[in-house]
Order: sequence, then structure tokens, then C-alpha cells
Amino acid sequence: MYLEFWWFLTVPIFFVIGWVASRWDRKKNRLRKQTKLKDLEKLVLFLTEENHSDAVKLLQSIIKDYERSFHLQKALGIMFRRLGLFDRALEIHAALLSMRKVDSTFLDSILIDLTKDYIGAGLYDKAYQALELIENETYYYQALELRLKINQRLKQWKPALKTLENLESYCGEEYENLRIHFFCELIENGATEYKKKLKEKNPDHRRAKELLSNKKIKISLEHGDFICNCCATKFDYFFWKCHLCETWDSCERLSYDNN
Ligand SMILES: [Zn+2]
Repeated sequence: MYLEFWWFLTVPIFFVIGWVASRWDRKKNRLRKQTKLKDLEKLVLFLTEENHSDAVKLLQSIIKDYERSFHLQKALGIMFRRLGLFDRALEIHAALLSMRKVDSTFLDSILIDLTKDYIGAGLYDKAYQALELIENETYYYQALELRLKINQRLKQWKPALKTLENLESYCGEEYENLRIHFFCELIENGATEYKKKLKEKNPDHRRAKELLSNKKIKISLEHGDFICNCCATKFDYFFWKCHLCETWDSCERLSYDNN
């Protein structure tokens, strides 16, 4: 009877221990949630400030709690790319491609990212291969834009004209200025058969006019101080397309105030 009495006393003791433990757990969970929320707030702030280097560090620590979040992984890859760490970006995006339970639209969005990573890394063949794998209509426009970017980087002007045609028929509008520049690039590289097309398209375009005329003094050969009005990079020669931000017709001559 004596033993049974003591057993009876242990019941409230275990109850109190259990209650204290559950309160402790709840407090810990609340603190963990508050920390996560603060981290997310900081992440948004870093991204808003375009502080990619701190954002990457924080996201890497946040991601440990969300290893199955494909979107966070994708975002981390994008941030690595923005920092110029193309190998890390490729590693993450390529790993996401092998994940199961990912729908085909998300897979295509990863292929778009992979293409951008490959372009950044200068691996254009791989970039083309990634584009070939895209299946969904949702990413057709982005895929065409990226293809056109690679065509131009590689100075593949005939394929660029073909991509431009596809882009125009998809958007329902004409990119006349780009077509003229592509014609001019082809003519300058010896494909003189494009002169007729250039005359038909717009002989009054500044570059077309210069190319079709027999003028000895050409603006495209001028030296001096020039600036890209898109990215503000300075050059000491005239350019039709900025070598840095790849914008056409962004060249302006710098005029200095002598006073
Ligand atoms: Zn530029």
C-alpha cells in the first residue's frame, strides 16, 4: 500500500514537468518564428537596396530551414548569377532540373535561368541546348529574346534575322531598327546582296545612309569622347551597339564646356 501511494504522487509531478516542457517548446517555436520573420524582413531590405552580396549570405542561412523550397533555391541561383558567380548559379539551377515533383512550367523557368547562367559564363553552345529543351508556350517569348541575344553576341547575323522574324510574328510588331542594323552588319562582313534589302527597308536610316553612300568621312570611324546613354560607359570611339549593355544606337558624343 505504501508503494502504491508514492506512485500516485508521481502523476501530478509528471503532469507539471510535461506542462513546463510544452510551455518551453512553445516559447522556443515562437522565438524561432520571430527570428525567421526578421531574417525575411532583412532579406527583402537587402534585395530592395540591391545589396546582393548580403542577400546571398542571408538566403544561404535561411535556405537551411527550407531545403525543399525550389523557389528559394532558384532565387539563390539568380543572386549568384547577379554577383557574377556563374558556376555557383549553374550548380544550383542544374540541380533543380533533376528534382522530382516539379511541374513542367517550373522546369522551363529553370531552363531560362540556366540559359542566362550559360550566357553569363560565355558557354553559348550550352545556352542554345538549354533553350532547345523549353516546351511551354509561357516561356516562348523569353526564349526567343535570349536566342536573339546569343545570335548577336556570336555575330550570327543571318540566324539573328530568322530569330527576329519569329519574334516579330509572335509579338505582331516589326523591329525595323534591329533589322537594319543586322543588314548593315551583314553588308560590312561582305554579304553585299543585303544592300538591296537595306535600300528597300529604310535608306534614310543614319547607318544605312552612311553605308550606302560613298562618303569618305564616316561617323562610325570617328574617334573622340563618346558615352552610352543607357549604361553611361565612356568610349574613345563611336559605336552602333554598346559593348557593355548591348543597346543599339545609344552612342552620344560628349561635349565639354570650355568655360
Ligand atoms: Zn551601354
